[in-house]
Amino acid sequence: MFCVKCGGVVDRGLNFCGACGQPVSVPSPQAHEVAPIQAINYPSSAPVPPSTRSVPYDPPQVSGMAIAALVSGIFIGVVGIILGFIAKNEISKSNGKKTGDGIATAAIVISIINMAVGLLLALD
Ligand SMILES: [Zn+2]
Repeated sequence: MFCVKCGGVVDRGLNFCGACGQPVSVPSPQAHEVAPIQAINYPSSAPVPPSTRSVPYDPPQVSGMAIAALVSGIFIGVVGIILGFIAKNEISKSNGKKTGDGIATAAIVISIINMAVGLLLALD
């Protein structure tokens, strides 16, 4: 590092500049570096393990019933509507462990459209 006063090179480990005798504040930046690291480590070490633990256990799974409703709704409208409502019921009962409410809703909508189109084609 360099002396603040004269700009001369100061060897590591020396507390005074060899050229002018100016005290070199080597330990103070180190003390500043250590303090924030400890301050960051202590609070982060406590909340991180539970959150990293909860991530692999908690991810909500898309309800298979919702997907089944979507697929069957494309082919047989009535089945899609029934399965769609079963899926929505299953998802709401799961307490957030299952997702796919949007898929179930889409399945019901597609099923209704499918039935409406089928009806129009039948009438035509
Ligand atoms: Zn100096």
